[in-house]
Amino acid sequence: MKPSAQIQISPELVERYVREMASFGAVGETGVSRTLYSPEWVGATDCYAKWCQEAGLDVHRDAVGSVWGRLPGTDKTARKSIASGSHIDSQTPGGRFDGILGALGALIALRALKEQFGAPKRTLEAVALCEEEGSRFPSANYWGSRAITGRIAPGDPDRIFSFSGESIAKAMREVGLDPARIPEAKRDDIDSFIELHIEQGPILEQAGLPVAIVNAITGIRHYQVEIRGTQNHAGGFPMDIRRDPMAGFAEIASGVVNTAHRVGRPAVTTVGRVLVEPNFPAIIPGKVQFSIDARHPDPAARRRLYDAHEGLMREVAARRGLEIDWKVMLDHDPAPSDPKIVATLEQVARDQGIPTLTMASGAGHDSQQMAAIAKVAMIFVRSKDGRSHTPDEFSSVEDIVAGIRVLAGGLHALAY
Ligand SMILES: [Zn+2]
Repeated sequence: MKPSAQIQISPELVERYVREMASFGAVGETGVSRTLYSPEWVGATDCYAKWCQEAGLDVHRDAVGSVWGRLPGTDKTARKSIASGSHIDSQTPGGRFDGILGALGALIALRALKEQFGAPKRTLEAVALCEEEGSRFPSANYWGSRAITGRIAPGDPDRIFSFSGESIAKAMREVGLDPARIPEAKRDDIDSFIELHIEQGPILEQAGLPVAIVNAITGIRHYQVEIRGTQNHAGGFPMDIRRDPMAGFAEIASGVVNTAHRVGRPAVTTVGRVLVEPNFPAIIPGKVQFSIDARHPDPAARRRLYDAHEGLMREVAARRGLEIDWKVMLDHDPAPSDPKIVATLEQVARDQGIPTLTMASGAGHDSQQMAAIAKVAMIFVRSKDGRSHTPDEFSSVEDIVAGIRVLAGGLHALAY
């Protein structure tokens, strides 16, 4: 590999872009509420397009409203581009960094590369993806990257509704987009996609490092479990002949969490939701429903984690004479990063004197969608206290600059 480029990134530009972008949907001092196709979203995408233009990029919006800035390559035989970006929408409210930092990082990286190295051989693209959070249309998830990968079904725009009941098709028309044209957003000419994002966890902070290279996005499975027993009087019914679904639930909840502890990092298992019927103090419940969220980035380890959870559920139910069944509500395979891009990012970070670690992402990201059409990798920037999805999320300008230098170095290595 040729020696990595040393890339200068302006902290002032980073600070200004983050601050000005946060004005679109500002909530209080540091919060942002910017949902898909809202007036704040329109303002933010217009601003992103303007900044792309100022950077000398060719700007266009795709059929779902994602904004692309393009730096054309000189090698006309290379059909596929190298792209980078993340989502421009937010939680309600979220902070100033989740998603948007990756869109800004890509733009800032391309701007710096153009200024410092001129035109690339291969075309580079920065993108502000229209939606990832599901914060207005809960089942729109990855609307921007799903459009790019051709994973939006023809009927979806009329089947996906906001929390207030309007269809995503209607919301699209209100901002001048035609849902019938969604298939035009599909791309087959992206070679690689690198997404910069805040970490949203405490691992970098605990390690005292600014930046991580992400070697996989975790696999996620959501179970919805129901345990049924016999509803009875809490005083009249002896312990030894009860069929108590709450006792079964308690054992399973603590068991699956302990299993993830035993497996160790990066396995995580969470019981986040429980519904008890009838939910009264003096009644042995008849039914308990609960969720299990279990994640692991390694395909084989993930299989073992899920098998252990399911085995425990069966065993507890059988021993306690309970009926149990579950549905898998969501099941995403792990998305491994491209090993060559990971190695390239590690190298350019080292060569620029930026200390990094390599880790898996425990959260889902647009990159796992983009993996269907391109080689992918991610770069994480340290999150203060590991926090995100809150106005309190924070990453320092120094850490962001370090992350963008790694991104720009990677793009340079791939495209120049
Ligand atoms: Zn995000």
